Amino acid sequence: MNKEEREILADLLFPNIKETPEEIEKRYPNRNRKEGEKVTRYAPSPTGFMHLGNLEGAFLDYLFAVQSNGIFYVRIEDTDQERFVEQAEDLIEQTLKNYNIMPTEGPFTEGNYGPYHQSSRKEIYQTYIKDLIRKGLAYPCFMTKEELAEIREGQELRKESLGVYGHYAVDRDLSLEEIEKNLEQKKNYVIRIKSPGNINNQIVLHDLIKGDITLPENIIDEVIMKQDGLPTYHFAHVIDDYLMRTTIVIRGDEWIPSYPKHLQLNQLLGFKPCKYAHHAPLTKKDDGHIRKLSKRKDPEFSLSYYDEEGIPEEAVKLFLATIINTNFEEWYLQNPDKSYMDFPFSFKKMPTGGTLFDTEKLNNICRTYFSRLKAEEIYENSLKYYEKYDKEFKNLMERNKEKVIKFLEIERNGKRPRKDIATYKDIKKEMSYIFEELFYNENTYKEIEKQDIEILNKYIEIYDEKDTNDEWYQKIQNLAEENNYAKSVKEYKNNSNSYKGHIGTICEEIRHATTGKMQTPNLYDILKILGKEEMKKRMEFYKN
Ligand code: GLU
Repeated sequence: MNKEEREILADLLFPNIKETPEEIEKRYPNRNRKEGEKVTRYAPSPTGFMHLGNLEGAFLDYLFAVQSNGIFYVRIEDTDQERFVEQAEDLIEQTLKNYNIMPTEGPFTEGNYGPYHQSSRKEIYQTYIKDLIRKGLAYPCFMTKEELAEIREGQELRKESLGVYGHYAVDRDLSLEEIEKNLEQKKNYVIRIKSPGNINNQIVLHDLIKGDITLPENIIDEVIMKQDGLPTYHFAHVIDDYLMRTTIVIRGDEWIPSYPKHLQLNQLLGFKPCKYAHHAPLTKKDDGHIRKLSKRKDPEFSLSYYDEEGIPEEAVKLFLATIINTNFEEWYLQNPDKSYMDFPFSFKKMPTGGTLFDTEKLNNICRTYFSRLKAEEIYENSLKYYEKYDKEFKNLMERNKEKVIKFLEIERNGKRPRKDIATYKDIKKEMSYIFEELFYNENTYKEIEKQDIEILNKYIEIYDEKDTNDEWYQKIQNLAEENNYAKSVKEYKNNSNSYKGHIGTICEEIRHATTGKMQTPNLYDILKILGKEEMKKRMEFYKN
């Protein structure tokens, strides 16, 4: 086709497209960022489901943009009309809000580089496609599904590369007349690029995480516009990231094999490609094999799991930070007063292979996170959790605010703060005994030996709420001595036959009888919260 025919074809295919790429580009000027300021984007497809991998992607975009004083924007990749899910976008917005990783610009805020929905950018893509047609770099392809399937079958049989390329690209050189005829007959078509690639060539992806990766050059006449007039992911990605002036595309490494296509599209369009950082997926050990976390098999992959379990968003982000940079965890443990935003995240410290989802690590991070919060903060935040998942307990907490805060304050501000709480759910589990309303229903501990009941009876007589911690302990020591219990474990060990038990046994029984638990925060503080009257009542409870 000569130049004139190509012009005719371009107008025939896109009669409504009047703008030129140059005119569009004027609306997307250079962002004039300083050296090093990154422009990143989170580009979710609205599937109606948000998983931990999605969150990790958004968090990475956020971290690298914000830490470099750059821009983090969101773009909704909704060109797959068949997969349209109502409210999916609300879920994306709500998730980013809940996790406090809000974009600088995008569909939920404002911005000069929109529209931020790909479905609203149809004319932009078509302007570039029309231009490629005009330049003879793309063509309409009328091949049917059946024809494509047949080609594929043959290629599989002969173990050739799959796709439309070389002599398989039969519509590449259709004449203007042939195309006109097909259009008259209302034949469906897609637009493909005319790939200039050579099967013997290789290209290199300079990946910011994985280093240089050599890949075969693209030889396929890739589809850039589908039958519905919307672009494919590959084409939309290249156009949008160019126009929106993205400096780094951070995305899952499942896109690495597509990189040669993206590089070639950039070249055909005359764009300078942005940088790429491909991150490894979250994985898990299953039956001895390592596999990707799956939506179907792993509840912990879905973000709703964290919400239901009462794992705070900030703790989930800290957990992700340990996955993102291998040296983060140590830093976090050593810097109790700093926020993760103070940590210098780097692509170089990102794992290049799959990252194992480690429940133990998540748990530890959560415990450390809670141990650094103020009692009031835990109280307020857990009210929000229980408002959603257990209103009755929320009301109980509100009615007993002072008591709850006192309980949460125990062993909180010292050098080694307590770590018994990993989730909001744990709060009920760990503290239910401080509520009379729950203690008598839930507590099943009844096996107190007779000799211990005796000692407990004696103890309640001498217990005084006004005693200091030392006085309190001294009293138990005296009690031990007077009743033939060893004053220390060491003493008991040296001469166990001559004692009924040791001071620890007495404390344990006091703890059991008053809380029903084997382990609690500092017993002295717990008893003060309960008060002498309630202690008495509980000890009576066991006698029956
Ligand atoms: N919409 C793509 C996806 O959800 C985004 C990939 C990318 O970040 O470029 O997989």
